[in-house]
Amino acid sequence: MQRLRSTLDRIDRKGYGAYRDLSGAHDFDSFTLFVDRVQRDPFAPPSLIRIRTRDNPFDRDLFGTSVRRVAFEDFLTRRVETAIRRVVRGNRGSGGSGRVEIQRTSQVVLPRTSVVATPDRVEARMAVGLPARGRSVDARAAETVLLEELPEVVRRGLLPAPRGGVDREEARLHVEAVEDANHLRGLLPGLGLVAFVADGAVLPRESGASDRPLGDGAVPFESPEEYRVEVDLPNRGAVSGMGVPEGITLVAGGGFHGKSTLLSALSWGVYDHLPGDGRELVVARADAVKIRAEDGRSVSGVDISAMIGDLPGGRSTQAFSTSNASGSTSQAANIAEAVEAGTSLLLVDEDTSATNFMIRDERMRELVRSEPISPFIDLVRPLHRTLGISTVVVVGGVGDYLDVADRVILLEDYRPSEATPRAREVTDRFPPRTPLTPREVSAPRRRALDPSHISLQRGKRQAARGKGLHTIELGRDRVDLSYLEQLAEAGQTEAVARIVGEWVASGKVRDVGELLTQALSSVGEQGLDSLGGFGGHPGQMSLPRAQELAAAINRIRTLRVGPGKQ
Ligand code: ADP
Ligand code: MG
Repeated sequence: MQRLRSTLDRIDRKGYGAYRDLSGAHDFDSFTLFVDRVQRDPFAPPSLIRIRTRDNPFDRDLFGTSVRRVAFEDFLTRRVETAIRRVVRGNRGSGGSGRVEIQRTSQVVLPRTSVVATPDRVEARMAVGLPARGRSVDARAAETVLLEELPEVVRRGLLPAPRGGVDREEARLHVEAVEDANHLRGLLPGLGLVAFVADGAVLPRESGASDRPLGDGAVPFESPEEYRVEVDLPNRGAVSGMGVPEGITLVAGGGFHGKSTLLSALSWGVYDHLPGDGRELVVARADAVKIRAEDGRSVSGVDISAMIGDLPGGRSTQAFSTSNASGSTSQAANIAEAVEAGTSLLLVDEDTSATNFMIRDERMRELVRSEPISPFIDLVRPLHRTLGISTVVVVGGVGDYLDVADRVILLEDYRPSEATPRAREVTDRFPPRTPLTPREVSAPRRRALDPSHISLQRGKRQAARGKGLHTIELGRDRVDLSYLEQLAEAGQTEAVARIVGEWVASGKVRDVGELLTQALSSVGEQGLDSLGGFGGHPGQMSLPRAQELAAAINRIRTLRVGPGKQ
């Protein structure tokens, strides 16, 4: 602390570059401050620091297993975030002067680089805008930020009461909630379920722009009697809710009755949620993929032949490439790629699907004889029968889907009920729909991904980085991830960008499955920190799923592919 103070005194009012003298470790009473990277000027991205406590005063129990550790680290990240909001004044001069940050969290709990807890210490990775007046060092303001605000943030956000402000009981509840959700997800295959929605869960969100729970007027979920399952969780004990069995599940109902909300909750059920979210005990298979149309995306050598026959000009669809997919071909590619990356559950919403991919009625069949598309309605059953992939599909307008569903759940005023018997009665009254092409579905042909046309060159540098939630920058190119509905945090985007960057730099042609498994198992073993950083500071990352990693790679416009190992 003394050295920090005297360094600051010495560099006061000097050019901003003098802040470089702060680099290195500084001992405080209860922690060590590492200044890993000093920004070049007050307008540049903030300087990177780490705080490492002298010991870890929390009960081992809170971080004794990998699931618990992730939950505990998530908890502390949120506590630091709150402490920063309460303590740090910010705005202490030009540019980002006086700003203090930790990685932003979302409603889900993920392994992140923001906090690392080990038995003998806790380390928080943060960023600070070192204060400037104009472009010179403002040492007084820096002293306030580094010697007053920062220690108070550490006290409130990283140390347990009574010494600090972290409530051990709250930490325990957080960890236990996450452990329960994780356990619940693990139970699904054994129960023959693809998803579970607990009674009392709150599914609607505050608004289309916020993932926080709807406060007033939310109707809590209540399972239809017919689907009610009781499970036993390690901390909560017995919990009841709706079990969604394997196979084809149709969610029907009038407009604005909560269909999409339910499906969206299932799609986020691949992750654990923080207590208070309302969806703590809404889980789906970890490999579930939300499928949608995405016209305009590029597709590289994907086998969509199970869904779409030969295209105009005799173009084969066994290795379909385009720089501008249509609604239906993009949705077919999304499915083929999801199968390739590994999935046991597809989630499909009529609202975000291409109509001609979902269905084709009798009249249109008469008029258009040269239609290459086998509509999804003819594929859902074979997908389950031959590949074991279940589907939950939301339908409001297309009654033909009643024919192919194993069960129908009807939503009325946000309340689900069992409607399978009624659906059977209805279908019996109409002539059965003749499937267009009663074909079998086989797994798409495997591809080998070739990075040789992807360039990371950006001026004199190599760049592979995330930009917000929805964009990856690779060299001068951008990869658009706007339609990945299960991408939760910008930290995942950053991690995906770095993994892709490493792969491209290696120049190796790799099978899709191989690439995903190797990249993620290496991150699993060595942690996200192994994806690089700046002198001990890894930057802000969260763990992505294989599905999002694959999806990002598949959207690189300069991706080339060859046949993979069949
Ligand atoms: P649908 O897909 O059936 O047309 P949505 O799922 O889009 O309907 O929901 C319509 C509206 O109802 C949304 O504003 C949503 O937030 C709200 N909503 C959904 N479920 C509930 C619920 N359980 N309680 C209160 N409001 C809900
Ligand atoms: Mg809808």
